[in-house]
Amino acid sequence: MRLSSTAHVRRRFRPQGAAVVWRWVAALLAGLACGPTAHAAESVDAPRGVAPFVFAVPRSAAAVVAQCAAMLTDLRRMQAHLAQGAEPPTAALLGELDAMTRREEDTLGPLGLLAAVSPRKAIRDAADACEREHDAFAARFLQDAAVHARLQQVSPADDIDRRYLREVLDDFADAGVALAADRQQRVRELRETLTRLTQRFERRLREDRTLLPFTAVELDGVPRDVWRRAPQDAQGRFRLGLAQATVFPLLDNATRAATRERMWRAFLSQGGSENLQTLAALAQARRELAQQFGFESYADFVLRRRMAHSEAEAQSFLATVKDAVRQRELSDLAELRAEKARHLHQSIDNTVIQRWDVAFYSERLRRARYAVDQEQFRAYFPPEASLRLVFALAERLLGVTVEPLAQREPLWHRDARGYTLSDTHTKALLGTLFVDLYPRADKFNHAAVWSFRNASTLAGRRAAAALVVNFNRQGLTLEELETLLHEFGHALHALLSNTRYAAQGGTNVQLDFVEAPSQMLEDWVYDPQVLALMAPWCAACAPVPAALLAQARAARDFGKGIGFSRQHLYARYDLALYGRESADPLALWTRMEADTPLGSVSGTLFPAGFEHIASGYAAGYYGYLWSLVIAEDLRTAFAADRLDAQVGRRYRETVLEQGGQVAPDELLRRFLGRATDSRAFFESLGK
Ligand SMILES: [Zn+2]
Repeated sequence: MRLSSTAHVRRRFRPQGAAVVWRWVAALLAGLACGPTAHAAESVDAPRGVAPFVFAVPRSAAAVVAQCAAMLTDLRRMQAHLAQGAEPPTAALLGELDAMTRREEDTLGPLGLLAAVSPRKAIRDAADACEREHDAFAARFLQDAAVHARLQQVSPADDIDRRYLREVLDDFADAGVALAADRQQRVRELRETLTRLTQRFERRLREDRTLLPFTAVELDGVPRDVWRRAPQDAQGRFRLGLAQATVFPLLDNATRAATRERMWRAFLSQGGSENLQTLAALAQARRELAQQFGFESYADFVLRRRMAHSEAEAQSFLATVKDAVRQRELSDLAELRAEKARHLHQSIDNTVIQRWDVAFYSERLRRARYAVDQEQFRAYFPPEASLRLVFALAERLLGVTVEPLAQREPLWHRDARGYTLSDTHTKALLGTLFVDLYPRADKFNHAAVWSFRNASTLAGRRAAAALVVNFNRQGLTLEELETLLHEFGHALHALLSNTRYAAQGGTNVQLDFVEAPSQMLEDWVYDPQVLALMAPWCAACAPVPAALLAQARAARDFGKGIGFSRQHLYARYDLALYGRESADPLALWTRMEADTPLGSVSGTLFPAGFEHIASGYAAGYYGYLWSLVIAEDLRTAFAADRLDAQVGRRYRETVLEQGGQVAPDELLRRFLGRATDSRAFFESLGK
């Protein structure tokens, strides 16, 4: 994803700093980035020999301010140049425009990342401030009538230029270039408001310092690795924070319902009433923005630029999915209820499944029925070796070689490191990847990729991206390995892209397509020949027993109904919040959640932590299910062999390398040899 209601603006003019791609874990949310450099070497494109990207971390907030000012000076100069010219413009004007995107990426790309991962608050705050200044610039730039008029005179030379030009003109239109002056002014104000509110929402989650005290007895069942090093209070209780690496294993394993309930309630109240107010203000500002353009809702305003084309089409898709999952959800819940009754030795009539029971009894059933305990996988998947495993997959499948990058300067934290990706045959550098694996205070606490710098064949420039997750240092569960592979899929999309324009690079695709390449890869972790790729990287790691893996695969399908229903509810809620009727975010959520089999739990504030829809996935959450349909269809090409290098090569060339310069439907047609359809998706729902 991209980040904000101003997705289109950010896409091209705060391009990749903004393109944060999240994992839709069964639970919740996600975040964003940026960072730059006053070094002259970084404010110009790399030479054509192409060296790895040098990530220069600013030494102080003052350095961030200086870099930001230098960027804005350059951008204003480039804007003035774009607007001039006596001759009718040629397609070269598109190249000039893209040079602005690249200049923005040089500075704002790394800063956007640092805003989410830097341990230094002064740097994070300065990076956020730069983003606001940049957005104010972009809002004015996209209303520049002289630049717009020149762009309108361009005759595109080919389909790539045609698509880029159309998207650019759409960006100008959506920024209000054709509106009357008073409306233009209001649009700029609203966009500034949206940036400020989105940052506030994200900051509050990132800097959350909630710690819940638990005794060892209360933590019965929770793996000791999850809590034994946690700080203790005066009574010797362990104080646990809300990082996923803590919360998920606790909810999966704590035998005491009261423990699960306390953690679940805290996790679903992150952001607090302040974020609820912020979300309400975001929804209102987005509605008003759409109204400036004559649309009744923000969903109508943005969906016309997506694969779905309209809210009606997205809703009708969701209605189809709902019918397919409803019965399955009810039967999943009935099984959990029976399991809880067995566990507590009580009659089923007296047994009620609470929301904080779902993960626990699902895990219990998986253990009982399939002999699969996610915790047992940690021994097989140390984090570093897991990373090498996903690299090895890319090497085998896509013809890419990944090597550690000798970093001359320290990165933002000692846990962060860099890698280069090059083509195995030609040895040409493809891109630079940064990885930040472990949790710490003030760090973005979910899983996402910042594709903060994009490739451009025009400029001889290769991409850079950062993969940010929060894993247990002891090892990954199989589900976490899936998350790692999902995020790595976004990184590959970004780094293997070979587009003419940076603005169309990698994950700069339509929002309801962007998750598909990552979702496709998720089930690769259930293939023994894929896991075997780790062997050279971890002599001490035993291979996962084939029987265990087969069981895990069977267990994965259990609970699918519950998982899809939840995703479905999130998607409908997002469209409703950004729909025609204005609504209080919590009241709307409570009403919609109450209409589900598990009902709504009073006292929790789920929307206050729903970072996706506060930022770039506003009126776009449905895209996770939408692109899952595409992901299932993509998998059919690898059905015979997930490591088929020939298919992988074709996939790299026809899909990943093309980024956003070809429409998704056309990319899929070229790769699959037919129009994409939903058969594989509905078949998988039936499993
Ligand atoms: Zn994702």
